[in-house]
Amino acid sequence: MTPASESQAPLVIAIDGPSGSGKSSVSRAAAKALGIGYLDTGAMYRAVTWWCLDQGVDLEDAEAVVRAAREMPLTMGTDPAAPWVEVDGRRIDAEIRTTDISSVVSKVATNLDVRSELRRRQRELMAGIAERTGGVIAEGRDITTVVAADATVRILLTASEEARLRRRSAELHGEASQTTIAATRDQIVRRDRDDSTVSTFHEAADGVMLLDTSDLDFDQSVQAVLDIVAAATAESR
Ligand code: C5P
Repeated sequence: MTPASESQAPLVIAIDGPSGSGKSSVSRAAAKALGIGYLDTGAMYRAVTWWCLDQGVDLEDAEAVVRAAREMPLTMGTDPAAPWVEVDGRRIDAEIRTTDISSVVSKVATNLDVRSELRRRQRELMAGIAERTGGVIAEGRDITTVVAADATVRILLTASEEARLRRRSAELHGEASQTTIAATRDQIVRRDRDDSTVSTFHEAADGVMLLDTSDLDFDQSVQAVLDIVAAATAESR
């Protein structure tokens, strides 16, 4: 395939999926292979949540949360080899992945004014990344349908609930036993249910490619994404 930086139009790839579908790690690896930038939009919702808690903003106070989202001095590191998140000069990569944040992030993400602020920032970031690197993979819950509905390639990455629980449980607890799977279930299943009230990421919208990774390992999932990208870019040439 022609490297993204050598073709004229930027290669914009949108990937959505539920928790544990592997979209973050697969997107990063695919962006690395294509030599383009990467945007983790979930990290931005997590960053707003962290910022609110850090600033003492009550997550039940919808207007205060929107104000915080608008004022948040956020910088995103978008190299797929080593992405990072910084707010007000502080690196918060580990802080935003804690269970404390995961369990309340949906409260922030279901605030529609927060969503429009973050979507505005995401589009701006994507344009900048694409200009610098020749393309971008942005992943989240509403990228294929709202943030970049006109992307060159749009993929919905799914996996069975059982596969997603197994993966996330191994990631969080270092193992996927009956007990850890049960502990992970509330977080994953409940969070996706709350998130589904504002985004559609369980079914592929018109023109979005469905990629089910339940029976694929990591390398096979990355290859499947690269195959879809290769086919789509050959078609649009
Ligand atoms: O992907 P990740 O688990 O890091 O996303 C964290 C949360 O951010 C999701 O549970 C969802 O509430 C929110 N999110 C969203 N729209 C996106 C990306 C993430 O609402 N595009």
